[in-house]
Amino acid sequence: MPCQIISGKKVADQVKDEVKKRVKELQACGKTPGLAVIIVGDDPASQIYVGNKERACQEVGIHSEVVRMTATTTEAQLLEVIDDLNKRTAVHGILVQLPLPRHINEEKVIEAIHPEKDVDGLHPANMGQLLLGKPRFIPCTPYGCLKMIESTGYEIEGKHAVIVGRSKLIGKPMSALLLSGNATVTICHSRTKGLAEYTRKADILVVGVGKPNLITGDMVKPGAFVLDGGINRLPDGKITGDVDFPSVADIAGIATTVPGGLGLTTVAMLLKNTVEAVKYGG
Ligand code: NAP
Repeated sequence: MPCQIISGKKVADQVKDEVKKRVKELQACGKTPGLAVIIVGDDPASQIYVGNKERACQEVGIHSEVVRMTATTTEAQLLEVIDDLNKRTAVHGILVQLPLPRHINEEKVIEAIHPEKDVDGLHPANMGQLLLGKPRFIPCTPYGCLKMIESTGYEIEGKHAVIVGRSKLIGKPMSALLLSGNATVTICHSRTKGLAEYTRKADILVVGVGKPNLITGDMVKPGAFVLDGGINRLPDGKITGDVDFPSVADIAGIATTVPGGLGLTTVAMLLKNTVEAVKYGG
């Protein structure tokens, strides 16, 4: 059986259509959802991601504001901006584009965002809610993974899910989501010995590492569902994931691609979270 490719664009478009509808309903009640994105420094990849988020907001009618701060911004200055945005009722969601310059404490910054405006779902209160199976905001990349899986009708319950990478953006929240869906979850990371022994046992394999071609076809169970969260820029400028797609596509049953996969659903889920945030009042 040839590997089924899930279109991130199709899944993202469906989510965006729902969001658009919800925005219209909210506007009819006099409320326009608002998202503020803060970017510190001039990392080129971050600039692209922020531009994509801004455009996506415009597409669905969400009011978007981008706060651009220089690389020399102090932690105190950034916290002050977050404090102002926390107080503004027209801003329902706040996202700080990561990574931050080294002199700024990322944890402190995330904790400064009001949990009811933390549409990236990274605040400890929101991570805790997710772990308890009562999420307020689900981090956008794992949320997109879930949407991709749901779009195929694939049953998570009872499956063995293996996640490679344990970051707060992808691996950790993904493990909580799959556990809530009654999968049996194994998490691998940089200290895991014999990675392939684990990945070969995965019915669902989620990869979020940041290393091109880390996962090759011989590391995948025949028929597995493979979701590639990696976004890596190669020296020639091309974008690739963590999965060696040509060899994995010969073995996997269903797979996402990079580009064209989770990058698109990540943005769509951010829009969904922003619209959801309106219920907390801004
Ligand atoms: P990160 O915070 O650096 O985490 C990487 C994870 O991979 C860590 O848990 C690390 O283990 C693990 N790891 C490193 N080398 C490994 C190896 N050889 N074998 C197994 N695990 C290994 O990165 P991140 O922020 O999660 O980003 C990961 C990738 O996802 C990047 O390519 C990034 O661009 C992409 N990304 C995509 C989206 C999207 O929209 N699709 C969003 C965010 C990030 P330790 O914990 O032991 O260090």
